[in-house]
Amino acid sequence: YEAKRGRRGFLMFVPAMDEEGDDRLRLQVDLDHAIRHGDLVLHYQPKIDLVTGKLSGAEALVRWQHPVLGMLPPARFVPLAERTHLIGPLTFHVLRLAATQARAWAEQGRPLPIAVNVSAINLDDGGFVESVEHILKDVGVAAGLIELEVTETTLMRDPERARAAIQALNELGVRVAIDDFGTGYSSMTYLRKLAVAKIKIDKSFVMDMSVSRNDNVIVRSIIDLGHSLGLKVVGEGVETADTMAVLASLGCDYAQGFHLARPMDVEAFDAWWQQNR
Ligand code: C2E
Ligand code: MG
Ligand code: MG
Ligand code: MG
Repeated sequence: YEAKRGRRGFLMFVPAMDEEGDDRLRLQVDLDHAIRHGDLVLHYQPKIDLVTGKLSGAEALVRWQHPVLGMLPPARFVPLAERTHLIGPLTFHVLRLAATQARAWAEQGRPLPIAVNVSAINLDDGGFVESVEHILKDVGVAAGLIELEVTETTLMRDPERARAAIQALNELGVRVAIDDFGTGYSSMTYLRKLAVAKIKIDKSFVMDMSVSRNDNVIVRSIIDLGHSLGLKVVGEGVETADTMAVLASLGCDYAQGFHLARPMDVEAFDAWWQQNR
């Protein structure tokens, strides 16, 4: 957390995110501490069924309440966790928090599936599926209330490993969605072999689809591809009523985005839920 001279002489504020030497080590120690001491919080963003208009699930998005830097978005620390041994503990911690929340809502008589983001490196861990199983049993939540989101690029890194992991997760009753779809290079062959339940169209295509003809065509094709493979399709990054209407008219199954609601802490999510029954 110090001021440094930039290359062109600009004075820059360089927080510990400048991952050089001591700063990087410092942030890593902080993150390790944060995972173990409850400084990571989950915000929840609703996902809406475009046919019924009803709430169909929530995505859990991690934030770090850093004592000095304030609330940090995942882009500021997930990549660091991925380059260190911390991504395993981070993912399992997030899964435990989400599972505990899913159980709480179920106990209140309003079960709601929660989606948790999983990193590429998690799937490389041979014990990943067993750890997921252990956490869900330990928390005491129905596996059907937890969904995992894996990015398309992740899956295509090692399609055979991904196929096996998804198969094993399905056997536990945990469904898997492909996140950021359209940004990677899935071959149709692999897509057909992966036992995923859903694809989430990357927000970069959805955001401008009501004004960009190209984006509209891409979104339309992804929806058709998903449906012809028997998958549900989610549009994310829905920022306007227009986009939502277009998605609905194209037969997209679910929508998620700022137009509906931003990711919220549990309290705000509960209030939103109450108002949008
Ligand atoms: P993602 O899984 O694709 O999550 C959606 C991101 O888009 C979230 O950003 C969300 O706040 C944002 N978003 C939602 N609706 C809109 C919209 O209408 N417009 C725009 N412009 N953005 C929207 P966030 O929370 O900053 O998360 C960014 C990424 O970080 C996530 O992308 C996910 O890949 C990763 N991430 C988040 N939580 C976790 C986690 O617990 N574990 C791991 N491994 N990665 C996570
Ligand atoms: Mg996601
Ligand atoms: Mg996404
Ligand atoms: Mg993403």
